Order: sequence, then C-alpha cells, then structure tokens
Amino acid sequence: MREKLTKYLKELSTNQNIGRQYLVEEYSMQDGHVYTDPLMEDSHEVVKGLIHKYKNRALIKVSYHCAAHCRFCTRIRQIGTDDGTLTDADIDSIINYLIAHPEIDDVILSGGDPFYTPHITEVLLSKLKDIESVKVLRIGTRLPVQSPVSFASKPILRLLELVKQVASEKPFFILIHIEHPDELTPEVLSLFKTLRQQHVTLLSQTVFLKGINDHVEPLFQLFRTLYHNGVVPYYLYHCDKVAGLENFVVPLEAEIEIATELHRRLSGIACPAFVIDVHNGYGKLPVPLAYFTADSTTAKDIEGNIITL
Ligand SMILES: *Cc1c(COP(=O)(O)O)cnc(C)c1O
Ligand code: SF4
Repeated sequence: MREKLTKYLKELSTNQNIGRQYLVEEYSMQDGHVYTDPLMEDSHEVVKGLIHKYKNRALIKVSYHCAAHCRFCTRIRQIGTDDGTLTDADIDSIINYLIAHPEIDDVILSGGDPFYTPHITEVLLSKLKDIESVKVLRIGTRLPVQSPVSFASKPILRLLELVKQVASEKPFFILIHIEHPDELTPEVLSLFKTLRQQHVTLLSQTVFLKGINDHVEPLFQLFRTLYHNGVVPYYLYHCDKVAGLENFVVPLEAEIEIATELHRRLSGIACPAFVIDVHNGYGKLPVPLAYFTADSTTAKDIEGNIITL
C-alpha cells in the first residue's frame, strides 16, 4: 500500500497523532509484505463486493479506494487497488442476492470509502432503498476526518441529497472512523453539523493504536467531544490481527484498564463498546471491563469499593 494523504491531512501531518496514522515510517512493513485476512472476509464474499458473514447483516465494499491510506487498515491487502471497484453489473448481482436473501435486514456500505466514490455509492443506494427487506442502512467512512472540504463537492452534495431522502424512509447511520481528538478540527465539527441535517444518526468507530491513542486522556477527550457534537461513540476495537500490523497493537490488559477508566468517567451514551473482532471466528466480542470477579459474585463499583452482587 503506497503512502497517500489528502492536502488537508498533509497540513496536519506534523501532528504526530495524525501523521503516524498515514506516513510510511518505522511502523510500516517493507514493500512486498503479504498481509492476511484474519476476519475471513474473502471466504464470506458471496458475490463480488458483498460479504455475508452474519445472518441478518451484509457488508458491501464499494471499492478499495480511500482519500488517504491508513497504515493500520484491516484491509491493507486490498486498499489502493482497482480490483474492488463495483461496476453496474456487480451492483445488480449484489441487489439480486439481497432480494433473494430477505433475512438480511441491515446493510453496511464500506470499502474503501463509500464517500470517496460517490457516483458508485449513489447508484448502489438508489437501488438498495427500494428493497423491502432491507430495513436499516449504514455507511462507514473516514472521509470526514481526511478531507472535510470534499463534502462541499458536487458529487458528494448530490449523494447527501439521496442519503437524506433515504434516511427519511429508513433508519440510516453514518459511522465515522476516528482515532484521536486532534482529528476534531473546527472544519470537522462543522461538517458533523451539516451531516446531522441529513436525518442520519452519526456514530463513531475507533481502534486502539499503540503510540497514537493508547491512553485514557485522548480517548476521554475524543468520546466526550464526539458526544457533545452529536456523534454517538459506537465501537472501540482492539487492533485486528493482520500480519504486519503488530506494531500498532496495544496489549489487551492495558486496553481493559483504559476502557474501564473511560467507562467510569463518560456519560453512558458517550462510552463505546470495547470489542475484539475475533480472527478466524465470528463476532465482535465485548471485552469484560475490570469490574467483576471471575465467578461474578463480587465486583468493584466505579469508586473502587468491593460489593457483593
Ligand atoms: C462488523 C461487521 C458487521 C456489522 O456488525 P455490527 O456488530 O452489527 O455493527 C457486518 N458484517 C461484517 C462482515 C462485519 O465485519
Ligand atoms: S479509510 Fe478506512 S478503509 Fe481506507 S485505508 Fe483507512 S481504515 Fe482502511
């Protein structure tokens, strides 16, 4: 995966908390490294671009392209290549599969970044909206923190019009991938306001990253500020077990301690679920916080007092 940043990120990249996410440096593997697929996405790709791993949910990769390349990307094996770009025929196959599988009620557009290829996403969405059995739609994106100004471009404004129209019919979630409070610039916060006017619910996703956000204070500021700006923190992930990304992985015990302290300090709605997307298995499993004893007969309360249950 080659280095790729937006103009906006280049200006911010002297900030280590942002630069380290994108710049090729000691974190990165050498060229030619083969990255793995621990989430078994390739084996659950039932039609090109459609991953059907959980019974009622399906994830669509719109393309493998993003505005900027994150060094820790779970899909680093694919990002930046043209192989994943959906054609109109691919979209029709996906739509037919969804119609033939009415147990799928929740569809996630991902990639690559669906907002980076707004014309493809628009075609897809205009067909998805008419499938009766699809009750909920989501778009996962990092573009708001990679290039907030892009949301003023004509193709994205057009897509947002469609999103607003669909969102007034079906619950619609935009999941913003964000790692550090330094990414919440005035431009980004102002974009959240615009997005909230599209009838969508804004959620966030964050990955624990060594040397970037593996402390209580930045994550506390991140989730609190998101909450104050109308974004509900959804998931906080342990970094996926992709071969070659080991330098980004934070030890689980340290993460449990941080997640427990965050839970103590944040409003309930502002506190994301801490999960591990297990490799070679199924599920984003919730990681127990450091409250309960092993046999669940006693617990520490948030003040640290031992109580019996
Ligand atoms: C994460 C994921 C989903 C959605 O999971 P939720 O826990 O409902 O957010 C769906 N399909 C795939 C392949 C996923 O990785
Ligand atoms: S924006 Fe998302 S999909 Fe694209 S490189 Fe970053 S983490 Fe991967």
